[in-house]
Amino acid sequence: MSRDHNNNKPAGKILIFSSPSGAGKTTIVHHLLKKFPSLAFSVSATTRPQRPHETDGKDYYFLTPEEFRQKIDEGAFVEWEEVYENTCYGTLRSEVDRLLNKGKQVVFDVDVKGALNIKKQFGDRALAVFVMPPSVEELERRLRHRSTDPEESIRERVAKARLEMSYADKFDVILVNDVLEDTLKKAEEIVSNFIGKA
Ligand code: ADP
Ligand code: 5GP
Repeated sequence: MSRDHNNNKPAGKILIFSSPSGAGKTTIVHHLLKKFPSLAFSVSATTRPQRPHETDGKDYYFLTPEEFRQKIDEGAFVEWEEVYENTCYGTLRSEVDRLLNKGKQVVFDVDVKGALNIKKQFGDRALAVFVMPPSVEELERRLRHRSTDPEESIRERVAKARLEMSYADKFDVILVNDVLEDTLKKAEEIVSNFIGKA
């Protein structure tokens, strides 16, 4: 296993997926985790309410705002953002270290600012992929069809999408998610090209 000479930690690769909510990154990431056993998902912490099909510790670590604040004060986050009003999300240092120490390549599903922050910290060890919806209208349709968020939350997510899409050209790769089957094939190619690289 190669090691990072600066801190002697295993130098696993880092794959960062980001997009406006509803563009399809969870779908893509789940597919890749099944396809590539060397990948492991970095479970983030959040203060948002748990959705019916989500599991605490698997999809997110669901924290109260007080617990989240305490982790900020302890310096427990690699990065964190108030992605939506009064709703925070953050990448736990302990989670990333745990996966790298297991020799895994770590996959992140984070918002655009978090993605560029992680990319800056990990440099060439990281690949930042922006998942682009075919249009904002299609994004809204997918969010409604997913039926996991209240109307107000859908509106907030759609309203934020255009701003998030303006960050796309700061990423290493833009993956347009139109026909899902094609997208998953392209995603597989992107990952095997990157993790195959010495
Ligand atoms: P995100 O994680 O970016 O919020 P999801 O992966 O939850 O997005 O996808 C949002 C919704 O759109 C889900 O219901 C998912 O099944 C659906 N979806 C994902 N990709 C496509 C696609 N290419 N075409 C149509 N629906 C899709
Ligand atoms: P959702 O509530 O739909 O699961 O996620 C909302 C947004 O928060 C998505 O853009 C998702 O990528 C982002 N997100 C999830 N975890 C993190 C994290 O640890 N850090 C940051 N910055 N964003 C995150």
